[in-house]
Amino acid sequence: MTEDTKAAPKLRPCPICGKPAVEAVKPFCSTRCADVDLHRWLGGVYALPAADQDDESDAES
Ligand SMILES: [Zn+2]
Repeated sequence: MTEDTKAAPKLRPCPICGKPAVEAVKPFCSTRCADVDLHRWLGGVYALPAADQDDESDAES
């Protein structure tokens, strides 16, 4: 049996830019993209302020 899975990279594409990921910084393609993802977390993109929707009408003036 011969399997041609040698060249098949198991790493998934970079979630940031879609380029092939690099083992050293997986699942990203570079430290830059890893940084972007990190900043997303720090920036609160993943932690959106779940502001009370009822507060909106109260803020109107
Ligand atoms: Zn990338």
